[in-house]
Amino acid sequence: MNTRSIRDLDLEGRRLFLRVDFNVPLENGVIGNDTRIRAALPTIRHALDAGATCIVIASHLGRPQGQPRPEMSLRPVSTRLSELLKAPVAFANDCIGHNAERAVQSSPPSRVVLLENLRFHPEEEQNDLAFAKALATLADVYVNDAFGAAHRAHASVNAIVRMMPDAAAGLLMQQELRYLSNVLFEPARPFVAILGGAKVSDKIEVINNLIPRVDRLIIGGAMAYTFLKTMEKQVGRSLVDGDKLDAARHILMLAQQHDLDLLLPSDHVVSEKVEADVSIETLSVEDAAIGTRIGLDIGPLTTAAYTAALTDAKTVLWNGPMGVFEIDEFALGTIAIAEAVAQVNGTTVVGGGDSIAAVTKAGVTDRITHLSTGGGASLEFLGGRTLPGVTVLPDA
Ligand code: AMP
Repeated sequence: MNTRSIRDLDLEGRRLFLRVDFNVPLENGVIGNDTRIRAALPTIRHALDAGATCIVIASHLGRPQGQPRPEMSLRPVSTRLSELLKAPVAFANDCIGHNAERAVQSSPPSRVVLLENLRFHPEEEQNDLAFAKALATLADVYVNDAFGAAHRAHASVNAIVRMMPDAAAGLLMQQELRYLSNVLFEPARPFVAILGGAKVSDKIEVINNLIPRVDRLIIGGAMAYTFLKTMEKQVGRSLVDGDKLDAARHILMLAQQHDLDLLLPSDHVVSEKVEADVSIETLSVEDAAIGTRIGLDIGPLTTAAYTAALTDAKTVLWNGPMGVFEIDEFALGTIAIAEAVAQVNGTTVVGGGDSIAAVTKAGVTDRITHLSTGGGASLEFLGGRTLPGVTVLPDA
């Protein structure tokens, strides 16, 4: 990836339109987690230091379906951003039109303006040209730092770029592209990928794209059961993606063709219910004693095998938990993997909200090379797709 960087732009005396991902959890106006706001600070500070006269920041939040919805207003985010920047942040009640123009024009030098939720207008998600034009009139130069929104062809990440004389990627966007490209295109070996989580369907493209690239592929979480089912193991009432059995068979065959080490659970922690304080048992995946119970975590033998498969890794990509780690009884496997990934002597990239929550719970975030907050965008990129918000940006 050789996308142009904000560092290559002349920002002195210019107004910058900065697309960020401030899609934070919000309840009754209270921000549950400000990680995404903090993640944009380096780019904002860079623009201020580089002499931008005004930084017009735009984001989406939630799914307001093209209507103004007060509970999805970005106003609380402007307050938090101001606290973090230790500088005033003006808030514009709308992202286009009179309100937005007034907020931008009345901003004294080096002021930051946050625009109201882009998705209050249906034209944002329609990649509408007139809407993109209205956004573009607010500034002289464009930077996209919203990796998490780069997989959508929406007006503020795609159409707008063609209306601006200058455009580039922000520092966070660059960091995401650098690490994700590194694992896909030039991983140090051995390269081990660990995939987990609930649904195989979300990750089939990623698995197919990774098979020719990785040395070992570790599969855990509910996802594993679709594979175990095709291998006629004892899965009880575990979550099996019935529509994806053929896809799972195909993946197993591909792995064999590539002589790839594909690791699946050999034992698991089972229970009658997905609840705390229930009775649990550890069984082999060959053991029919599972009956009608559900597999909710990898067992100790599997954990040991997976951990061993990581010890000599030089590149690790991890996306998706090994079990229902939100409940303590089923969190051991995921936490053990988080600790094992943290001990790897190489590049480690952890993506997906749940895996990031797991490394946080394990207290090892500072020992992970890169936490990829991009969610859907990361999965599409790792699945080999091009991202409409990235391809539209000029090359360096
Ligand atoms: P995903 O969004 O696909 O990464 O899935 C994450 C979710 O998968 C988490 O909320 C986990 O609780 C859930 N999960 C992981 N393992 C299992 C399992 N064995 N059974 C049911 N849900 C699981």
